[in-house]
Amino acid sequence: MVAAVVDETADARSLVLDVPHWPGHVAGQHVDVRLTAPDGYQATRSYSLSSGPGEAPTITVQLVEDGEVSTYLVRDIAVGDTLGVRGPIGGYFVWAGQHRPLLLVGGGSGLAPLRAMWRAADPTAPVVVLASVTTPARVLYATELADRVRAGTVSATVHLSRAPVPPDAVRSGSPLGAVTLRPGRVDPASVEAALAACGGAGAEPGVFVCGPTSFVEALVDLLAGAGLDPRTIRAERFG
Ligand SMILES: Cc1cc2nc3c(=O)[nH]c(=O)nc-3n(C[C@H](O)[C@H](O)[C@H](O)COP(=O)(O)OP(=O)(O)OC[C@H]3O[C@@H](n4cnc5c(N)ncnc54)[C@H](O)[C@@H]3O)c2cc1C
Repeated sequence: MVAAVVDETADARSLVLDVPHWPGHVAGQHVDVRLTAPDGYQATRSYSLSSGPGEAPTITVQLVEDGEVSTYLVRDIAVGDTLGVRGPIGGYFVWAGQHRPLLLVGGGSGLAPLRAMWRAADPTAPVVVLASVTTPARVLYATELADRVRAGTVSATVHLSRAPVPPDAVRSGSPLGAVTLRPGRVDPASVEAALAACGGAGAEPGVFVCGPTSFVEALVDLLAGAGLDPRTIRAERFG
């Protein structure tokens, strides 16, 4: 059952789920959500768990234009409605909070499992977030990210692929004021800076990359170019 709905941006929202006998989850796992129409037609999609371990299972869905399931979950579903939920699923793209630096690289809604990870991270080890979104208004969890940057537990760089970086005067009044914004797609300089902030490839950071397939593939190449062994990079493709 949907226990609460949180609007994250104009086209994305988080659904806090009440799942009977939920066994708990590890950051990075996902669930399969099944919708059933009155005529019995069913559609199933995967959604990452965006809440930290120990918190109520939560998914964050970003609307895909004309998408069968995401449009319903973002526009129509309401508190009290029921969904078929299977999970938690996944044992590879997961972070159990070990004492190691963490490099979290997300494109668009790929930030969903990464939020679960930064919430699960050891607060004494560096956590570096490198994200790519189209426009500032579409950054998921902007307030939470900025709060963590101000608290010194996370450092964050967000690339804006389809909008200019707003002037300082505009940014300082927005949640993104604390976050480093850079124009265009993620580039080698940002990847090298993020890796350096983790202590370099030699510090053996946990590296997680998540988002659309094209984004994940480009970022794995950039990380490998910066000296990381691709076999150490854990990637989740949203399709
Ligand atoms: C392991 C896993 C975890 C995922 N976690 C999340 C998550 O946390 N949040 C989230 O919003 N989504 C997530 N997804 C994507 C999600 O499962 C759906 O694919 C997405 O919501 C679109 O479904 P739909 O039914 O709305 O679109 P569909 O009706 O399936 O597709 C409509 C059109 O959009 C295209 N399309 C499908 N998916 C995407 C996409 N992701 N981006 C751009 N175009 C697309 C299709 O090719 C098609 O042309 C995850 C996917 C996987 C595999």
